[in-house]
Formats: sequence, structure tokens, C-alpha cells
Amino acid sequence: MSTEITKEIVCPQCGEPQKYRLYSSINAGENPDLKQMLLDETLFDWRCKRCNYFAAMAYPFLYTDPEAGYIVCVTPGGSGNNAEPTEAVKSFTKRSVKNLAELKEKILIFDAGYDDTAVELVKNALCGIIRNTYKVSRVHAYFSRVDNGEMEFAIFLPQTNEPVYHSTKLDVYKQSQEVLRALDFVDPAGFVRVDARLARKIIEDYQNI
Ligand SMILES: [Zn+2]
Repeated sequence: MSTEITKEIVCPQCGEPQKYRLYSSINAGENPDLKQMLLDETLFDWRCKRCNYFAAMAYPFLYTDPEAGYIVCVTPGGSGNNAEPTEAVKSFTKRSVKNLAELKEKILIFDAGYDDTAVELVKNALCGIIRNTYKVSRVHAYFSRVDNGEMEFAIFLPQTNEPVYHSTKLDVYKQSQEVLRALDFVDPAGFVRVDARLARKIIEDYQNI
């Protein structure tokens, strides 16, 4: 079930108080409309009815897709993750993300039927190449889609708002699955952060076999 909360907020520009609907949990099965707004990156947009001031809201919530069997705990700004998985979601894949971009990526990965840990390993390899190619120290990559036997990522280079797209052969994904199998990798308990840091740790462990 999705849980909606109405809050009174005051416009930071004109001071007009008004109501804002927010969600402490979103159920994709019951509210495909909310899921679509998440994917369109519009769900948390707020516009003042009086002066048209625009803000993108950020607050913690749980995203559940019972049919696909996963639950994501969103905690913006590192507000800490105190959520404990309930009995009902014990068998679900449980993830923790820091922002809506990361949530959107998880949705795209799981909806496409891929393993996000293996995808992080692919990203780890791709980002290494990108850093060398563009001579930058830091890049952000987000899974975009699989097309024509290739896994495509949106890559954000430092100081750019528009992504560049790069693809890798699906073989790299299959090799990443092999790495996880070789390590007998299983999800740790609780809401897991499956990100670049975990990918680096897995690669390190793999090299030490
Ligand atoms: Zn206003």
C-alpha cells in the first residue's frame, strides 16, 4: 500500500503557506502512476501556486514492487538508514539508495531482469576506461538500458549536466556474473547499498582468491 502524507509548507520565495502531498511509501503494483512519475523524475517536483517558485523535494521513503519482489529504502542526504525489513518483505531483494537517480537506476535494472550487483561490476570496469579516456578522476554512471546485445549507461563527467552514453557488450555482464558465482556472493542481510564501493570490494576479493 502507498502511504500519502499531507504537509503544510511555506514557500521559501513568497511565504505563501500551502499543502504538499508526500509519500512515506510507494507501492509500484498499486500505483503505477507514481512509479511512472518517479521514472519521469517529476514525482517530487513542487511549484508554488502563488509565485511559481520551483523546488525538487527530497525526503526518505520506501519503494516496493511486490510483484518483482524488491524493496528500496531511499534516504536522501545520507539521513541514515534505520529501516528494518519487516517479515513480509523478508524474501525480497532489499536495497538502500541515497537519491532518486539511484532509485530510478535500480527500477530500470530490476525491471529489465538484471542483477544490480553484476551491473555495478560492469560499471566499475566501464568507469575505469572512461576515466582514462576523458582524463578525469571521477565519473558517475547510471544503467540506462539493454539494446542490441549491449548494456548502455548514461555517464556524467565532472561539471557536466548532460550525460554521454556508452555501451558494453553483454559478455562483460556475463563475466561479472561469473565473478559473483566464483565468490559465492550472496546479499548481506538488511537494506544493502549496492554501489561502486561494493563493486570495488568484490573485485578486490576476487583478485585475492
Ligand atoms: Zn511562492
